[in-house]
Amino acid sequence: APAEIETDALIIGAGPVGLFAVFELGLVDIKAHVIDILDKPGGQCAELYPEKPIYDIPAHPTITGQALTDRLLEQARPFEPTFHFGQRVESLRKTDGGFEVETDLGTRFRAKVVVVAAGGGSFTPKRPPLAGIEGFEGASVFYAVRKIDAFRDKAVLIVGGGDSALDWTLNLQPIAKSVTLIHRRDEFRAAPDSVNKLRELLADGSVRFIQGQLTKLNGDSGALRSVTIRGPVGGLDLEYDVEAERLLPFFGLTMKLGPIANWGLNLNENQIAVDTARFETSEPGIFAIGDINTYPGKLKLILSGFHEAALMAQAAQKIVYPGKRSVFQYTTSSSSLQRKLGVI
Ligand code: FAD
Repeated sequence: APAEIETDALIIGAGPVGLFAVFELGLVDIKAHVIDILDKPGGQCAELYPEKPIYDIPAHPTITGQALTDRLLEQARPFEPTFHFGQRVESLRKTDGGFEVETDLGTRFRAKVVVVAAGGGSFTPKRPPLAGIEGFEGASVFYAVRKIDAFRDKAVLIVGGGDSALDWTLNLQPIAKSVTLIHRRDEFRAAPDSVNKLRELLADGSVRFIQGQLTKLNGDSGALRSVTIRGPVGGLDLEYDVEAERLLPFFGLTMKLGPIANWGLNLNENQIAVDTARFETSEPGIFAIGDINTYPGKLKLILSGFHEAALMAQAAQKIVYPGKRSVFQYTTSSSSLQRKLGVI
């Protein structure tokens, strides 16, 4: 079994607010581990609008979602957070003197305080509308590649025309028995370099492309044999079967609250209720900041999350260092804060 990781603070969600929480906690000597189901930091900013400019971040008249993420990472760097990507926090329970948290990959954490910075919930792959697909999930149908070996020497079918679909077509082609890419159009919205590589593999026959849509999965007991596809063949609109032992549909992501609903925290319309002095939930020691929380007057803005992170850190300090007298200090003039930041 994987070892249990001990940390002062565990942050659930690496969106802009979770990232700024690393910084605010660091200023009060609290070390953090950060978990996100995505494979990268930045939450909505990085996943939904990396190239769009944001105009209401204080002192940045304009900054893109990705640039803001990069700046927040740079600002948090002196505090050396440990990130755990591609994992979803499933359970959170109270123990003597803290909390135990477990992810869907079985990583376990023991933390003195937990900061839920889960935004709109965990990013979850969209499920294609195919009858009985649940029965194949985890055995033949996957929404992400976690173990390459599950695809070795298999007839792999990948659906989609974006970066994920193309990346996995290119990466699985060398090890799979065959790779077939299906998309509604013969046009791809992916990095030009990936599109060029795909065109080369199509030209030399190492990958097959089918224009069309999935209409049915065929197989039993979770073992997929083939899929039925509807699409143009020689000017006709036909339905036909294609061999497939593994299916990877990439239909985009949605945000779902997910397991947070089961943690026994007071919720108000799927948001976690908090107070506005500490941003603490109904469970002392569990804080909620950013888009996931609610309180009178809440504005779902990044700048609100930043303020919430600062007050949360002050309250968390009293739990992690009980009895320690905290002195209010400015980063501009405090040599102790500047030493922590590594600037002097
Ligand atoms: P998020 O960014 O949602 O990040 C939360 C992270 O937690 C996600 O990555 C999620 O996968 C992860 N997570 C959740 N549950 C789990 C779990 N159980 N296990 C593991 N990981 C989990 N705001 C502004 O202030 N100004 C703007 O101009 C602006 N423009 C926007 C434009 C668009 C198109 C959108 C969609 C939003 C915009 N917003 C804007 C809103 C802003 O993006 C959000 O307020 C901000 O992202 C909230 O940050 P967060 O860190 O609270 O949550």
